[in-house]
Amino acid sequence: MAQMLGSSQQHRRLVFKALLWFTVGGGLLFGAVNFGRGVWVLAGLEITYALFALGLLRIADTTPHLRMWTLLYLFPFFALMTFALLLPSTSFTVFAWIQAIPIICYLLLGLRGGFWMSLGFLSMGVAAFNYRYMVDDSWLNAMVAANVGLSSAAIMMFSHIYERSRVANEARLLELASTDTLTGLANRMKLAEVFQRERSHALRDNNPLSLIILDLDHFKQVNDQFGHGGGDRALRHLAQLLPQRLRDTDLLCRLGGEEFAILLPGADLGQAAERANDLRELLVAQPPDIEGRTQVMTFSAGVATLGEDGQSLDSLLSTADRRMYEAKGGGRNQVVAAGQQYHLAPMSFGR
Ligand code: GH3
Ligand code: MG
Ligand code: MG
Repeated sequence: MAQMLGSSQQHRRLVFKALLWFTVGGGLLFGAVNFGRGVWVLAGLEITYALFALGLLRIADTTPHLRMWTLLYLFPFFALMTFALLLPSTSFTVFAWIQAIPIICYLLLGLRGGFWMSLGFLSMGVAAFNYRYMVDDSWLNAMVAANVGLSSAAIMMFSHIYERSRVANEARLLELASTDTLTGLANRMKLAEVFQRERSHALRDNNPLSLIILDLDHFKQVNDQFGHGGGDRALRHLAQLLPQRLRDTDLLCRLGGEEFAILLPGADLGQAAERANDLRELLVAQPPDIEGRTQVMTFSAGVATLGEDGQSLDSLLSTADRRMYEAKGGGRNQVVAAGQQYHLAPMSFGR
C-alpha cells in the first residue's frame, strides 16, 4: 500500500515508456524522411536512437536502475534535438520540441533533476535558436527572441510549480494514509513499512527486534460508562502517555479499536517484556481523566521477537496476539512473553 501511494517511481516508469514509444515512432519516421532528403547524419542518428529506445523498452518495466537509464537516454536525446536545431537543413519547428524539455525532465526526474536538466538544455536550445535564426538585430527579431525566451521560461516555471505541488500532495497523502486519525499515531500500514526497514537493519547488524501487542482491559465498560466520546478520550490519553517511556526509535501504532502495537528495534524478548511492563505500570499510575473523573485503566500485553517467533510481521503479530490472549486468560493487567509472566496488582475494576 505504501509503495502504491509512493507512486513517483511507478508514474515515472509509465512516462518513460510513453516517451520511448514516441521516440521509436518519431525516430523511425523522421529518420526515413531525413534519409529521403539526403540529410544522412541526422537520419542515421535518429534511426540509431529509435533502436536504442526499442532496446530500453525491453527493460523499462523491470529495471531497478530506472533513473540511471533515464539519464542515459535523456542526455543524448536532448543533445540530438539541440544538434538538429543547429543544422542548416532543419526547420525552426524543431524548437517546439525543445520547449517540451522541462515537461519531460520534471515528469521523469522530479524537482531537482528536472530543474537542472531543464535549465541546461533549455538554455542551450534557446541559444541555438538565437544563433541560427536571429541573424540581424531588427526589432522584429528582438521580439521573436524575447518570445522564445519568455515562453521557454514560462513552461519551465509551470512545470516546476506543478512538480513541487505534486510531490507535496504525495507526501501529504502518504502521511494521511499511514496515520490513525483518532490518536495521530502510526497505523498498521506504517507498521508494515517500518517493520520491513527495521527487519533489514536488525538482520544486517545482528540486533534484536521485538514487538508488543497490547489490548485495553474491559474497554467496553469505559464506553458504556462515558459514551463513545469518553472512550475516545481514553484512547487519546494512552497515545500521549506511552511515548513518555519509549525511545525515539520505537514505533507505537494503533492496530484498530483499543489494540496497539509497539515495534522495539534493539530490544530482545526480555527487554521488550520489561518495557511492556513499564508501560503497564505507567498507565496504572497515570489513568485518564474523563469528564472530571479518574478512570482506572489497564491493559494486557503479549510480546514476540524476530527469529525465535518468526521472520515476518504476520508471524510476530500472531504470536504476540496469542500471548496477549494468554495474558487476558491469566487475569488481565499483565504481560506475557514466552513463559515469562509479569503479573501485577489485581484489576481495580472488574465485571
Ligand atoms: P477485554 O478485556 O476482553 O479486551 O475486554 P474489552 O471490553 O476491551 O473487549 P472488546 O475487545 O470486545 O471490546 C472492545 C471495545 O472497544 C468494543 C468497542 O466498542 C470499543 N472500541 C473499538 N474501537 C473504538 C473507538 O475507536 N473508540 C471507542 N470509544 N471505542 C472503541
Ligand atoms: Mg479490550
Ligand atoms: Mg480488543
